[in-house]
Amino acid sequence: MEADRPLWERFRDPGIARALVARVRVRVARELGGHVSLMEVCGTHTVAISRSGIRAALRDAVTLVSGPGCPVCVTSPEDVDAMVALAESGLTVLTFGDMMRVPGSSTSLEAVRARGGRVRLAYSPMDAVSYAASHPDEQVVFLAVGFETTAPGVALAVAQARELPLANFSIYPAHKLIPPALRALLDQEVGVQGFLLPGHVSTVIGRRALAFLAEEYRLPAVIAGFEPVDILMAIDRITHMLVRGEAEVVNAYPRAVREEGNTLAQRAMWSCFAPADAAWRGLGPIPGSGLGLRDGWEDLDACRRYGVWAQPAGAMRTGCRCGDVLRGLLLPPRCPLFARVCTPAAPQGPCMVSSEGACAAYYRYERGDGDDGPQGAGAAGPR
Ligand code: SF4
Repeated sequence: MEADRPLWERFRDPGIARALVARVRVRVARELGGHVSLMEVCGTHTVAISRSGIRAALRDAVTLVSGPGCPVCVTSPEDVDAMVALAESGLTVLTFGDMMRVPGSSTSLEAVRARGGRVRLAYSPMDAVSYAASHPDEQVVFLAVGFETTAPGVALAVAQARELPLANFSIYPAHKLIPPALRALLDQEVGVQGFLLPGHVSTVIGRRALAFLAEEYRLPAVIAGFEPVDILMAIDRITHMLVRGEAEVVNAYPRAVREEGNTLAQRAMWSCFAPADAAWRGLGPIPGSGLGLRDGWEDLDACRRYGVWAQPAGAMRTGCRCGDVLRGLLLPPRCPLFARVCTPAAPQGPCMVSSEGACAAYYRYERGDGDDGPQGAGAAGPR
């Protein structure tokens, strides 16, 4: 009986997936002029779409471009430069694994570590707090990157550091907020007809925080989970709305996402953070799109404590076009460096460094799927 099947099995059912693919293809061919472009704004979706073959299965009907949904990828070169400056000044810098290899304007944290700098891996914000507690002779800075999903955990770590108290712990706040980035993207007139919205971020901020996409920009959008049927149901719903001329932000991931989000996590986040201007790789500076420590928490801010601030970075030396990939203007295989000079073993940009980056996803799951990448040379939609 269907009710006896585990939930995950139903969301991975090949028969349901095939039926959804067929329905979307027919609908797009008959009622939407043969092609639509949609954007996913979540690195986990990007990987799931590549790995499951959804992009290839819908190739003729739907172009799925990746937006600014990979937190490591959107961290700006100027922030990486400031983190490098902190590490080179003799402080102990802790960060998540992928951030190590992300290039700034001239070098990376991994290169600083190779030269003897104290750059260490943290598995969680609390891990960084524990490290600081057990190394009182070192000044420890945690590089706080990520979206609304990780910010509450960092806020709890900051509160823990204050409570202990730890005089040798601070953070470099480089968090990013998704709604202001989507507004900035749409104000630049990105050429997509709908959005697949991130399940993780929405779990924290809720559907309501994303409703502006329909109310102000008249775009259909669906919050989706991460299994193949989740994603295909979302694409099915978006194309259905396009046919009907409807614009709505639909929560198709109700097993995790609520209208108002996770208010406990939000309270934790806003207890020590406040919105701040932030620079995004690819999108540039966006007002109110980051998080800074609130008044009263300044002593835990590494920028203020050590006088190191992000400065405008020069152009990337490598010719990397991650900025265009993150705005949905370029599909990874169209980058001249893709798979030739730029590979996961020798990444030239963060979209190949991060396991959730679009270039890494294409490299791992979609190489050889046509000479020119999954959408092919003659495909409509963004390049
Ligand atoms: S393939 Fe490499 S160089 Fe090109 S945009 Fe992606 S990460 Fe940058």
